[in-house]
Amino acid sequence: MNFLSTFVTFQNLHEVRRLCHWGPVIALSVIAICSTMAILDSIIWYWPLDTTGGSINFIMLLNWSVLILYNYFNAMFVGPGYIPLGWKPENQQDTQYLQYCRVCQGYKSPRSHHCRKCNRCVMKMDHHCPWINNCCGHLNHAYFTSFLLLAPMGCSHAAIIFIMTMYTQLYERISFGWSTVKIDMSAVRQFQPLMPFSVPAFAATLFALGLALGTTIAVGMLFFIQMKVILRNKTSIESWIEEKAKDRIQHYQTGEDFTFPYDLGTRWLNFKQVFTWSGTPKGDGIEWPVHPKCHQHTLTIEQLKQKADKRVRSVQYRAVEDYNGACCPISKGLQTFFRTPCTEEPRIPLNKGDTILATRGTKWWMYGDKVLNEEHITVGERVRGWFPRRCVEKCHYDTAASDSTSVKKLTPGLRHATLSTVWRLHLISFYYFCKNKLLASNYIN
Ligand SMILES: [Zn+2]
Ligand SMILES: [Zn+2]
Repeated sequence: MNFLSTFVTFQNLHEVRRLCHWGPVIALSVIAICSTMAILDSIIWYWPLDTTGGSINFIMLLNWSVLILYNYFNAMFVGPGYIPLGWKPENQQDTQYLQYCRVCQGYKSPRSHHCRKCNRCVMKMDHHCPWINNCCGHLNHAYFTSFLLLAPMGCSHAAIIFIMTMYTQLYERISFGWSTVKIDMSAVRQFQPLMPFSVPAFAATLFALGLALGTTIAVGMLFFIQMKVILRNKTSIESWIEEKAKDRIQHYQTGEDFTFPYDLGTRWLNFKQVFTWSGTPKGDGIEWPVHPKCHQHTLTIEQLKQKADKRVRSVQYRAVEDYNGACCPISKGLQTFFRTPCTEEPRIPLNKGDTILATRGTKWWMYGDKVLNEEHITVGERVRGWFPRRCVEKCHYDTAASDSTSVKKLTPGLRHATLSTVWRLHLISFYYFCKNKLLASNYIN
């Protein structure tokens, strides 16, 4: 274990159970198949080890496998970092700006969110990734993103080997009639393969090529999404909070100027906060450097405002297209197909005219509760999950409020209470705004 722990940091040994899940099983199988096939194809049929190029190729292939597995296991076992159970801010007064997590019996520190899969409050939570069966957050963001970069690079290398193996091995047997294609095949003719390139070998190589190309495209896209998150210093959840903040400000016409607090100003500074030479990102995952115009609780106050606001004014969407609940629906456009959320959370089928209360979303997908009729509500049924954004359109608030079941359910007293919460939070932010104006020089990044 000591030997292993120099490569992979096991926070707790019981974390090994994370491997027992379809995500890691599939991911590790793909890595194993692609790397083994690339190595076998190289040394048996394509690039013999007794040549300099062949040796370098072999070392490179091993190198990819080690780097990919190193980052993969670290992303899984180091984990995102969890907020200690029962956590409270140092200053008791700050609790009024924070949400309380009943499961963890503590306050949620800035940027943290409770993950239902991990059952803990996660530091700088981005999303729960089924492929590592863990959350992507503060401590493993760099490992996770490095894995997303290295996997497509390794798979591209393997794909080239697979194509070249099949091409060179079939060249001698089948004439494609490509007389105009002039490739120097003298090296291939001199090299006697260790064993004949049989049909099973051809089938296995073709299968591995499919896996490698699929991984390159799918994981490569995830890499660009994560790089965007890192360079803007804004997690997927925070992008959604910001979108709702703009929407709330526009609705109430409060004239507030919402500045996202955690963007350090330049992409390079944001990058350096996550990627460090030691592998451990900067900061303790609880307190964060913020924009000079903001303070530690800018975003948590905004979250509280949105929570209070949600009870008064629901963000409703109406289905304008039917949706059958498929994970990757082809008929809803390429972007919806490819950008399907990488989560095990359910998809909900929609019928034209359905009303949905959205709670979060990405550019192409949304997550929310379907508004059910009285009959279902009394049974306690709840339909919650993801659906394509293009299948719905936003309702106007006036019309939304008039036919919203959840708003109707609020008693006048409760509605008054939530409205006063909204105004109390507006006052808190006004107080912070004045305090910032006076003490602007005290906030150091
Ligand atoms: Zn929690
Ligand atoms: Zn999680």
